[in-house]
Amino acid sequence: LVRLRSRLARSQSTLGKGLLAMLSRDRIDEDTWEEIEDSLLSADVGVGPTQELVERLRTRVRVEGVASPDQAREILRSELLHLVGTDLDRSVHADRTATNPAVVLVVGVNGTGKTTTCGKLARVLVAEDKDVILGAADTFRAAAVAQLATWGERVGVPTVRGPEGGDPASVAFDAVKAGVEQESDVVIVDTAGRLHTKTGLMDELGKVKRVIEKQAPVSEVLLVIDATTGQNGLTQARVFAEVVDVTGIVLTKLDSTAKGGIIIAVQRELGVPVKLVGLGEGADDLAPFAPEEFVDALLA
Ligand code: GDP
Repeated sequence: LVRLRSRLARSQSTLGKGLLAMLSRDRIDEDTWEEIEDSLLSADVGVGPTQELVERLRTRVRVEGVASPDQAREILRSELLHLVGTDLDRSVHADRTATNPAVVLVVGVNGTGKTTTCGKLARVLVAEDKDVILGAADTFRAAAVAQLATWGERVGVPTVRGPEGGDPASVAFDAVKAGVEQESDVVIVDTAGRLHTKTGLMDELGKVKRVIEKQAPVSEVLLVIDATTGQNGLTQARVFAEVVDVTGIVLTKLDSTAKGGIIIAVQRELGVPVKLVGLGEGADDLAPFAPEEFVDALLA
């Protein structure tokens, strides 16, 4: 986790350092506020949250003044934390009930890192001593089923799979059935992310969810978003959020972008907390999202 933290800090610190420098200037004028706004926007914080943050910073600077760089840091830290939100439920609900495994459905556009996230999440849960089953319901992307099975082997958990091109709902059904029969703790179901049409997607994910719920309630629907795709990724994510009740966001590839502001933008846009962040392609590169750590990394 320490390693991950320093990696997040490295990729994100330009934004924080820049903001800190601007806010520590002897004279903060309109040009300065514009610069602050620009750097937030170019870090993908999004228009609404940027305006809100700048308004709040303006008020605090006016009322409190900025007497030292330390004070600038304190103001910035508390306002960024306010924006990111410190009181959201960011835990991944993956505890079995007396009768059922927890079911975690992983959704999102192809290429965002869904399959990888399923593998990494399985690893995290196995480390918590949980019995995990993977369900390879992304039957449309040619390599997805084999890729998930490879993750399963690596992490040491079984993968339930069907034929390539088969019915995703039937694989999801089989995976959860196995989880119920084997009294597993968690079933993680990878899904297809074809953004063909909204109704197509709705039908597909709706069916997957319905067949699962014949056996066990879905405890968590994680929407995977690629942080490097910025506002475009956000637009696609919105479609998913409209067709299925998303309970948490996984923001992947944060190691490959300095635009960590997207964390703030997605939460605001979708009204769902970021629960996990992907910081690399390896098995250990998935971390719980912790607002304090994130903001401290920004300002490191
Ligand atoms: P899917 O189509 O949504 O299932 O996406 P995949 O899981 O196949 O991931 C697509 C690519 O992104 C793969 O090459 C992954 O190794 C890579 N990837 C996934 N998560 C991360 C991450 O957090 N950081 C980096 N750098 N790459 C990632």
